[in-house]
Amino acid sequence: MELQKNYKFWFCTGSQDLYGEECLRKVAEHSAVIVEKFNESGALPFEVVLKPTLITNEVIRRIFNEANADETCAGVIVWCHTFSPAKSWILGLQEYRKPLLHLHTQFNQEIPYDTIDMDFMNENQSAHGDREWGHIVTRMGIERKVVVGHWMDAKVQEKIASWMRTAIGIMESSHIRVMRVADNMRNVAVTEGDKVEAQIKFGWEIDAYPVNEIAGAVAEVSEADTNALVEEYYDKYEILLEGRDPEEFRRHVAAQAQIELGFERFLQEKNYQAIVTHFGDLGSLKQLPGLAIQRLMEKGYGFGAEGDWKVAAMVRLMKVMTAGMKNAKGTSMLEDYTYNLVPGKEGILQAHMLEVCPSISEGPISIKCQPLSMGDREDPARLVFTAKEGPGIAASLIDLGTRFRLLINTVDCKKVEKPMPKLPVATAFWTPRPDFATGCEAWILAGGAHHTAFTYDLTAEQLGDWAAAMGIETVYIDEHTTIRELKRDLLLGSVAYR
Ligand code: MN
Repeated sequence: MELQKNYKFWFCTGSQDLYGEECLRKVAEHSAVIVEKFNESGALPFEVVLKPTLITNEVIRRIFNEANADETCAGVIVWCHTFSPAKSWILGLQEYRKPLLHLHTQFNQEIPYDTIDMDFMNENQSAHGDREWGHIVTRMGIERKVVVGHWMDAKVQEKIASWMRTAIGIMESSHIRVMRVADNMRNVAVTEGDKVEAQIKFGWEIDAYPVNEIAGAVAEVSEADTNALVEEYYDKYEILLEGRDPEEFRRHVAAQAQIELGFERFLQEKNYQAIVTHFGDLGSLKQLPGLAIQRLMEKGYGFGAEGDWKVAAMVRLMKVMTAGMKNAKGTSMLEDYTYNLVPGKEGILQAHMLEVCPSISEGPISIKCQPLSMGDREDPARLVFTAKEGPGIAASLIDLGTRFRLLINTVDCKKVEKPMPKLPVATAFWTPRPDFATGCEAWILAGGAHHTAFTYDLTAEQLGDWAAAMGIETVYIDEHTTIRELKRDLLLGSVAYR
């Protein structure tokens, strides 16, 4: 499963030829130093590539078009070292189609009090050059990120690094292809949506296949391949027989191993990165894919249950945006299941029938086989564990009939007070910000779903910036949320995003 391409970001410095050769030589020299230090810093997840100083309409237009055409370029970082008349940028910006970061910095950190003269000021005037540039980008209505501060400052580099992952999300969104092997669960509203509009807005391709086509691919997986994977499971996970016959248990586990291999081969052959199933539409599959889907999610596939292609695509998007991240804590589809309403201990127990990604786990992972209360198949094997502590974001993309809205709730994951030995599914437990009651009230008022795409590894800002680039409304629910302000946000959104 390919998760990370060898993307690069271009560094383009704005200037003009008014200041003479000597000044332009220094501008280029300073930019080269910044790019070199960025790449040495280890703070940025992707390489930065220095481009020639942009001084004329022709050069600017050419560089932006080269950036469009270069498949490895995931975005352009612009900084105006000197003044760069912004009309020169109009054609280039009009034709540019990739993520844009405005780095509002300057080469020197401190004013050189003893030596500063007019030449120095003319050479180091991003304080007004970048205002001229920001004006034209705003006037043209182009979505971009602005990062302010000295380029060596660790916080500034962190912000650039954070934006790079948003840029990857913008670039990769249009490569997400979701395979539906079941339609939406009958009568369910929130998992529905306009697939044509999703392709227009996000670039997602969402296709349906008869479930028995993928079930055929499962049936073709050899016994030898299946047994080899079962061995791997038995090495890696604890086996919780709970009184079941070991041979019978192993046969149930083998059914999931065969599904994992068959599904993965089918998805690879047809080039899909996310999949949607439904417990009520399993064709000739012996079990609801549980352990199999959990393992596929861990490998980087998106997943949505009961036909929920929006969640499947969002999980895949999060997997791609967080790929290769040091100390990543995980990303999964989750579902709000049941509450703890004890004062001071309020929270939402997150789970699903089976399909929770083990990337969010902490501690041992076990395999259990238990009957499903829904569906009509044999008892599926599933991975059982509890999730990590710490903050994360739960996202819900909903279709309001005429448009999409993305809800992003910052949540605090906690350990439950006691083990839940009779619960045969993986769980997380969180308290939504700003507090349980306000968070739930805001979520319901904003129309959020019961399925979410959850990650510990992105911030609300990163995902919200992705949504802004897609041109859709974002509703944030976090420590700043009050119901009065949320209602005003929803009202403004209903006017702005018709
Ligand atoms: Mn569900």
